[in-house]
Amino acid sequence: MVPAIHRPAEVKVNLRAIKDNLKAELAHLKPGQKLFAVVKANAYGHGAVKVAKLAARSGASGFCVATLDEAIELRDASIVEPILVLGITPANEAPLAAAHNISLAAPSLEWLESAQKALANKNQVLKIHLAIDSGMGRIGFSEDHEFIVANKLLKDNPNFFVEGMFAHFASADSSDESYFNYQVKRFNHLKELLTVKPKWIHIANTAASIFDKDIKSDIVRFGIGLYGLNPSSNPDSADLASHIELKPALSVESELSFVKQIHAGYGVGYGSEFVADGDQWIGTVPVGYADGIIRALSGFKVKVGSDFCPIVGRICMDQFMVLLPEKKPVGTKVVIYSDQEADPNFIKRAADYTNTIHYELACLLSDRLPRTYH
Ligand code: PLP
Repeated sequence: MVPAIHRPAEVKVNLRAIKDNLKAELAHLKPGQKLFAVVKANAYGHGAVKVAKLAARSGASGFCVATLDEAIELRDASIVEPILVLGITPANEAPLAAAHNISLAAPSLEWLESAQKALANKNQVLKIHLAIDSGMGRIGFSEDHEFIVANKLLKDNPNFFVEGMFAHFASADSSDESYFNYQVKRFNHLKELLTVKPKWIHIANTAASIFDKDIKSDIVRFGIGLYGLNPSSNPDSADLASHIELKPALSVESELSFVKQIHAGYGVGYGSEFVADGDQWIGTVPVGYADGIIRALSGFKVKVGSDFCPIVGRICMDQFMVLLPEKKPVGTKVVIYSDQEADPNFIKRAADYTNTIHYELACLLSDRLPRTYH
């Protein structure tokens, strides 16, 4: 997909805000604790290489991504800090990761055995982080026996360097800490079974860190907080206060590309779900669901000039329409998602409106929207 640079639509990323979020979190780290910037999924839509370079310059000690390809993208962009792939990489790709000095999550004994064969063939050493499933129910060791055997396999193993051990929380953004505490207990139990000595044992994501949960974690895997968004998506956690000021960094802007007056009975968009009940002004915005502006946003109010105007009719693949209070000129600025928390079109409000989370709306912004940085 090519970025549409000849169309007035862009994702605007405030690098100053990202830097401020990072610096604020660094100032809160415990002695010896490190921050890895989570830049998977194109840095949650903000642009992985740009964000990673800024984070490296500003004090991040390493990076987390989801796939080996995302890690290689960073290495190709001359990022030299440690990079951990959080998801499962096929074991036969272990040599490629080792060749790029990329650390992989090791989720099972079976995976270790397969990866070792591939590495031994090429006489390579791979950095690994033992992935623990302490209650997320996703990937990693959860049974004592398998973990004990894996530790035996790793002891003095010429093909693996055990750089880390980690787990992920299912509910660190909740004020009800019962499941969180259960996960910590499970993690600590497996930690006691270690016979190898990982360099970093880590469990904190943004929520566990900024809500000051009582845990030990050598690394904070700082994702959504880097982008200035509060991880909390649970209504019950509205009372959880972040220990840093979060500055949202992303907005999506476009312009009116077409403006017309319609009359009573005239429909707008596929299925004519909106029908004019009199003379009304309609503006067209040249952005649609192929850009990640999902159809569920129909009815949501975006800012057109100085007015908040509802999206009317179904959102099309490449365009959507808004109901204007009066005639406005073609070229009038449209802010689809605002980076100001108080605005009705703040991305978190768009997420609430569409019954999803801001993580998802940011990640959905497609490569067709150019990223611009300020
Ligand atoms: N660690 C793991 C294993 C993850 O999957 C994620 C994100 O999904 C993170 C850390 C970062 O989480 P957050 O963006 O909430 O800080």
